[in-house]
Amino acid sequence: MHATATLEEADRLMTVCNSCRYCEGLCAVFPAMEMRRSFSDGDLNYLANLCHGCSACYYDCQFSPPHEFNVNIPVTLARARHESYAHYAWPGVFAGSFRRNGLAISLIAALSVTAFIAGFVAWHGSATLFGIHTGPGAFYRLMPHNAMAALFGAAFLYMLVATGMGLAAFWRNIGEPSRTLTQGSSSLWQAAKDAAQLRYLDGGGVGCMNDNEQPRDRRRLFHHFTFYGFLLCFGSTSVATLYHYLLGIEAPYPWYDLPVLLGTLGGLGLIIGPLGLLHEKIRRDRAILDRDSMGMDVAFIVMLFLTSLTGLLLLVLRETPAMGLLLALHLGVVFALFITMPYGKFVHGLYRFAALVRYAKEGREFSH
Ligand code: SF4
Ligand code: SF4
Repeated sequence: MHATATLEEADRLMTVCNSCRYCEGLCAVFPAMEMRRSFSDGDLNYLANLCHGCSACYYDCQFSPPHEFNVNIPVTLARARHESYAHYAWPGVFAGSFRRNGLAISLIAALSVTAFIAGFVAWHGSATLFGIHTGPGAFYRLMPHNAMAALFGAAFLYMLVATGMGLAAFWRNIGEPSRTLTQGSSSLWQAAKDAAQLRYLDGGGVGCMNDNEQPRDRRRLFHHFTFYGFLLCFGSTSVATLYHYLLGIEAPYPWYDLPVLLGTLGGLGLIIGPLGLLHEKIRRDRAILDRDSMGMDVAFIVMLFLTSLTGLLLLVLRETPAMGLLLALHLGVVFALFITMPYGKFVHGLYRFAALVRYAKEGREFSH
């Protein structure tokens, strides 16, 4: 007996696949499945998070619908993944936010933006909000740097703690000891390489299938734009923090300075990537689309897109009267992004990476 109907279905499918094994060269899920004869809830959650949703196993399968075996691995594992995010959420009282995720994140983002605009007006008046502010420290005429650092530092810390607790719950649930993380440097390195290349989003080498059985690599490409864009933006913020505290140089910085260059490149990645992923999501073949995850997927994509769009507009229009409003919009969206990260699609990256670490470790043990 499994905890949910989705896990029951995942067990049925894994048992069918374990007898068939036709797809064993497609990705990591099938070799990991073959190492087991039966599947606990933790095993199924592990396999679900190891799946990258390339859908090759749906189009290659002789038992996929309309066959009576009704084997649909991509949708079943996507459902199990989505349910696992709620299962691991910390604190548990927020697990329900995964059910109506799109609505929850939209409301939080709207409230956050409103709070920043109202805060700026209450603090300085609307004349300052729509005034022109230039030179070093211009942003801090609307919100003091220390207040900004304290607020975003607290939100970032909360995000780290909540996602860390979720990750620990995942690790316990799949039955891995903590020493795999502390002693398994080769597993970590292998997982990092696999994640950086999205190795298992390639349908076994031919490409990901999305709108039909024609393999293409567009999802992998747009995911790369998004992921590396995010890293560059994170790098930009980190360098800007060092500039402020170590060198005493205040934002905004000239266009040729490192934080702006990193932020602009990352911002472009976070425009192209999310737009491409959204396009692919809308075009996805309904047979392989998990409708229940759609709101969560789209909400995260839109939040990343808005983070970048408001940041780039702020860069271009920072010496105009629009700067105050754009700063409030940008800070509002980024704050909402931080505090909703543990309760949205962002967590897929953490659990997938952890699943890849376990897979690398299992693979080595199995081959000995
Ligand atoms: S998905 Fe279908 S073809 Fe692939 S291993 Fe499972 S049952 Fe066999
Ligand atoms: S990664 Fe692709 S081939 Fe592997 S289980 Fe998931 S959808 Fe199927």
